[in-house]
Amino acid sequence: MNNEIRAAGKRMTRTRRAVLATLGAARYPLTPAEVYARLKHQRVAIDPVTVYRNLTALTDIGVIARLALHQEGQARYEMKEGRHHHHHIRCRRCGRVADLLLCPLKKLTAMIERKTRFVVGDHSLEWSGWCPKCQ
Ligand SMILES: [Zn+2]
Ligand SMILES: [Zn+2]
Ligand SMILES: [Zn+2]
Repeated sequence: MNNEIRAAGKRMTRTRRAVLATLGAARYPLTPAEVYARLKHQRVAIDPVTVYRNLTALTDIGVIARLALHQEGQARYEMKEGRHHHHHIRCRRCGRVADLLLCPLKKLTAMIERKTRFVVGDHSLEWSGWCPKCQ
């Protein structure tokens, strides 16, 4: 457990901890609906609005990150711990999202800064395709 989570722990309700545990156990970024379904399955008494509110609060604290993939109309959330800047790939058939724990754009970023004289702050890049199950 890192310091951010420990600091957040003081303000952590049981619900918030349950939401966090769900994201921690997931192997890919989850939508609020998926978090809700998993908590309900574990018989945690919670409603979708509370799930959403907790996800927002945990994002504000900085413990989790919110992803908005452009091919989807909904946000996904994932744990921040142990993960720096990275990218994602999404399955076109089932919608599953996987982490690509790397960034191939360092050289390109340097070139863009040289050409535009901008200082690059951020970029977004995502792939889509077919996951092993959907091929
Ligand atoms: Zn798939
Ligand atoms: Zn990710
Ligand atoms: Zn990148």
